[in-house]
Amino acid sequence: MPELPEVENVRRNLEALVTGKTIARVEVRLARIVRTPDDVGEFALRLAGCTVTGVRRRGKYLLFDVPPHCLVSHLRMEGRYSLAQAEDPQPRHTHVVFHFTDGTQLRYQDVRQFGTMDLVPAGGPYPPGLQELGPEPFDPALDAVALRARLHHRRAPVKAVLLDQTCLAGLGNIYVDESLFLAGIHPERPAASLTRAQCAALLEAIRTVLARAIEAGGSSVRSYVDGYGRNGGFQMQLNVYAREGQPCRRCATPIEKYRIAGRGTHVCPVCQPAPRRRRNDPARSAARSTGGRGAARRAGTSGEGGIAGSAGPGPAGGGGAAAGGRRGRRTAEGANGRGRANAGMDGNRTWGVEA
Ligand SMILES: [Zn+2]
Repeated sequence: MPELPEVENVRRNLEALVTGKTIARVEVRLARIVRTPDDVGEFALRLAGCTVTGVRRRGKYLLFDVPPHCLVSHLRMEGRYSLAQAEDPQPRHTHVVFHFTDGTQLRYQDVRQFGTMDLVPAGGPYPPGLQELGPEPFDPALDAVALRARLHHRRAPVKAVLLDQTCLAGLGNIYVDESLFLAGIHPERPAASLTRAQCAALLEAIRTVLARAIEAGGSSVRSYVDGYGRNGGFQMQLNVYAREGQPCRRCATPIEKYRIAGRGTHVCPVCQPAPRRRRNDPARSAARSTGGRGAARRAGTSGEGGIAGSAGPGPAGGGGAAAGGRRGRRTAEGANGRGRANAGMDGNRTWGVEA
């Protein structure tokens, strides 16, 4: 599933490729991709003659400005756009084709067929999902206090809350894991238990991770290429995601993976101390975990290496085996070459835009 950095890269490429083009006609080959309006004939009719004036992004949604309409597109798992000449062979799974007056075509392919398009009036109302999105992570109005206000009533694990698009827009599994690692926060901590300082660290981590990922062209962990058929490069910089069993880049402890909120979750057990658990008392366990955090963190960064049972997948395993300290960290970085990082990827399916 593409997340904010990948969708932002697709947006930038699309904006360069289709802005200013006028739609001659639209071909919808798979009606289920179009949610609004109900009638795909009506969808095509409304778009004919409209000019694309820009492409925006909100969360993981792409918004094509085609006055007086706005075409809202969500790529879901595998959706991708490509700009082609009319005579170019049509790839399989091409479900919607926008024919421009200059003879080029914007093609929407989607192997999984989960993507959606909604054609709405430019001023809204926007489709459900988009309407309820939380703030953009780079929204200047979002600060530590505002983030904490969005978290403080949520007892669910912070990982689950950050995946909830109504809390914050645009984050998915990769960047939530990466941000929590950078902030030194365990994904299972109840969102409500984060202190204001931790919210500040978390927000800074989210922005750092997203900015670097956008800059690197997104992550091609599973299925992403940018507008020119290139892989993203951020998978080389991932600290925990898809690095199960590999040494933490900060403390050399093997990265652990288990399920939180139904999602595969990657954690350094030393850099992200687990909340201590006390049955039936989540609030209390949350409070205690704050105390444990500093100690475990110190052990981790000093490289003295606690030895604890980190083999089990349970988050309550705590401690973890800190090995090597600085020496290990350097080795870990050195070993993480391109080939190595690629080895963890399953398959080479692609999505995105293609020129
Ligand atoms: Zn670590």
